[in-house]
Amino acid sequence: MVANPYLDVDKEILGEVYTSSEPMDNLIVLCDEFGSRFPGTPGDRGAVEYMVEKLRSYGLEDAHFETFKIPGWVRGKATLRIVEPIEKELECISLPHTLAAEVEADLVYLGDGPIEVYEKRKKEIEGNIVMVTSRTPVGMRRPLHRTEKFHRSILAGAKGFIFMNHYPAYGPPTGGVSPIIPAVGLSYEDGQFLVRLLKRKGRVRLHLKTTDRNVEQTSFNVVADIPGTSGEEEYVLVGAHYEGHDIAQGAIDSGSGACVVMEMARVLNKVRERIKRRIRFLCFGVEEIGLYGSKAYVEQHEDELPRLRFMLNLDAAGSAGRKGVILHGLPELEPLFRRFAEEMKAEVPIGQRVSPYSDHWPFFLKGVPTGSGGDLEAWVRRGGRGYGHTRYDTVDKVELRYMRNAAANYSRLILRVANVDEWPARHRTEEEVREVIKAQGYLETIALAEKVREYVSEWEDLHPDTKAWLERRGSW
Ligand SMILES: [Zn+2]
Repeated sequence: MVANPYLDVDKEILGEVYTSSEPMDNLIVLCDEFGSRFPGTPGDRGAVEYMVEKLRSYGLEDAHFETFKIPGWVRGKATLRIVEPIEKELECISLPHTLAAEVEADLVYLGDGPIEVYEKRKKEIEGNIVMVTSRTPVGMRRPLHRTEKFHRSILAGAKGFIFMNHYPAYGPPTGGVSPIIPAVGLSYEDGQFLVRLLKRKGRVRLHLKTTDRNVEQTSFNVVADIPGTSGEEEYVLVGAHYEGHDIAQGAIDSGSGACVVMEMARVLNKVRERIKRRIRFLCFGVEEIGLYGSKAYVEQHEDELPRLRFMLNLDAAGSAGRKGVILHGLPELEPLFRRFAEEMKAEVPIGQRVSPYSDHWPFFLKGVPTGSGGDLEAWVRRGGRGYGHTRYDTVDKVELRYMRNAAANYSRLILRVANVDEWPARHRTEEEVREVIKAQGYLETIALAEKVREYVSEWEDLHPDTKAWLERRGSW
């Protein structure tokens, strides 16, 4: 049996977490008062001021927000019309960073869009409108992200992109792309209608029009610290993005994550005299359309990164399921985390996987040891977002018990990470980072984004939004 040196602290933390509804109270305000918190909306600034105020009221005196500029985006109306063999208008929504454009072309349906299909059907795709589902194709050992399907379609010559929800009854999905060709989300039902029509008639001609604007905007990161008693410069960081997609409340993804981070700040501050090294709490802005908040943080705090022991990303921490940790290719940390879980007597499944699609990524690329909240086994079984990234990600679906479980597990865990003297992980070199990415099969994904840039830069009559995008040194 493993002795628990923090039994008294654990009891205090758990007592606080389970006798308060603070995370749910905060989440309701974030969602109902400030809406999506999407960059450029008035609710973004309002939410940030609210979070800072709350954190100060918890006793984190230095809580503040930091500002950064982003290539922002303002949604316009999108229309998708079938022009042949029948006339019919379908409801669709632009994917963030889409440009204002108009195209009339044939529909090419690629199913789940497995990676080999784009080259294979290049002749058909050339000059036409591709439709793929939001599902990762059967048999893939890593998730196939929307952006990769988008990029592969462009390289095959697509002039429009339709992203069909693979879940019924959740409406059209959203999710960021780049301003290259018009891209829209379509519901499962309308997508299936198109699939049947195409099958019966052999050819479907579509008219797709988008009216979005790509503009510079400002957004924010909320930062607060518990300084730690040792005075050492080494520190740990826990964060989650607070904003959602513009069409939703972004309640699970990731208002719930931000509220769990705030709850951790609240309860850990009550035991601050027992915390050795600094714990920094981050609520990131603008994750959804390009990880801009975490990128900005990493840039603005570059000099502090070498002393960052561990970064834990709690994106969508209020979702259902066990509150474990997925380490990003760090087997050397596994025995330690398992020991922590054992002494906590808590269900904290530990897994290993690297994924580039959330706020840990800019830290990971700098060599910082990182992990995400979650349960790898459940992810493998479930696969996909459900109502995430649709307008139905609303606060009524979030359950307090999951936010409590998250706050309880991660508070106790991060306290141990901040306190343990024998920390077995070190920062990776650039070369080592690359090796890990390669082993996970993402090198091709990165190369793909580069290839798209090269390919698009040779186009004539570039749209001004595309030009501006090319001029920005994009990371993928
Ligand atoms: Zn998220």
